[in-house]
Amino acid sequence: MPIPFEEFLFALVNNLGVFALLTMGYGSLLQYLSRGPLRFAGIGCLFGAGASFAMVGGVHFPNGNIVDARGVMLALSGAFGGPIAAAVTALIATFVRLLLGGGSMLQGIALIWITAITSLVFARIVAPGGRPSKTHHFFHLGLLACLPASVLLCNALAADLPQIALYVLLPLGVAKVFGVVVLGRFLSSAREFLIATQALERQAMLDPLTGLPNRRSLERNSTAIIDKARRRDECVAALVIDIDHFKRMNDRYGHDAGDEVLKQVAATIVTHLRAGDAAARYGGEEIVVLLPRTALAEASRVAERIREAIGRKVFAVNGDSCSVTVSIGVADHRGEALNFKSLFKAADEALYQAKDGGRDRVVLAEAARDAGAGLPVERATLAAAS
Ligand code: GH3
Ligand code: MG
Ligand code: MG
Repeated sequence: MPIPFEEFLFALVNNLGVFALLTMGYGSLLQYLSRGPLRFAGIGCLFGAGASFAMVGGVHFPNGNIVDARGVMLALSGAFGGPIAAAVTALIATFVRLLLGGGSMLQGIALIWITAITSLVFARIVAPGGRPSKTHHFFHLGLLACLPASVLLCNALAADLPQIALYVLLPLGVAKVFGVVVLGRFLSSAREFLIATQALERQAMLDPLTGLPNRRSLERNSTAIIDKARRRDECVAALVIDIDHFKRMNDRYGHDAGDEVLKQVAATIVTHLRAGDAAARYGGEEIVVLLPRTALAEASRVAERIREAIGRKVFAVNGDSCSVTVSIGVADHRGEALNFKSLFKAADEALYQAKDGGRDRVVLAEAARDAGAGLPVERATLAAAS
């Protein structure tokens, strides 16, 4: 009755391979499917496939019992994909167990559901948020997953209990606990790696001072905004906003005070934007905004509202109060002439005109869009005299 050592070793190597494949599949699901029923069902299918593979390659006893690593997948599917994944895994495993048939089929199916349900409940109890991640979580989960199978095996093979305990239950129990710990740690490492990578990606796209997206992020977002506008033949406007004489303000009140003003200027700008608009700290004290579906006239009204709001604001710095003004260059493009580089260039040239004209004003770039694609900006018009 003891399980031959070579068979045991072969099953171990086999299952480690399955674990590696499961971990890769799990990582891809987390990456490409957002959190929701579809992702949970996907995790269920993945674990179901793993459980089925384990059953087909399991040790088949003459009395119809099949001993395999399906319990490892069943114990972990609920922990990593919640009730939906647990149910899908159990359904797939049930289907495959039906196909395999044999005398202990009903017993095997009962085991599948008992393991899936008890593990799901247990995972929610032992780990915060129902997400086991530590080795001891998986160790306990593995021990729990051994219980139902051990009871049923003892009943089925009751002829010589001490022998069964020593040669069958002990190695199987060790293998199952080992399997749950190894696969559990593989999966939680994949999850932690992805969470850390996503956090780093988010950080790399954000300006830490203002909390606005940074230049890289805007340039990336601009592609989607501009492609969409081109397809629909809509205008996109750009505002280039620069704080006037900011160096003086830093010199007078200190760099920290300057930082605080910059933060509040950014926050004020954001309050004047719509959901689809994209603002970014483009560099230094310069903020760039892309306004989809917006032509020059409407963009100039938005810019004027921003300029007035910032000019009115009183900033408290170092127990003192101060105010700042901004200059804004505005441009719009549509059709073939629309690309981020030329749109930004047009708005930036208008900003220079605003600075030359005395600051604290909005200047519109009249792009030569009607004359032909990609032509340079020809003139800038003062839209708001100081
Ligand atoms: P202008 O009206 O021509 O724009 O004058 P300006 O002084 O604002 O322009 P200039 O380009 O000469 O200087 C920009 C200043 O903005 C210099 C720099 O100290 C300040 N600055 C840039 N980034 C930051 C920042 O993150 N924090 C603070 N406090 N100051 C910054
Ligand atoms: Mg400036
Ligand atoms: Mg500047």
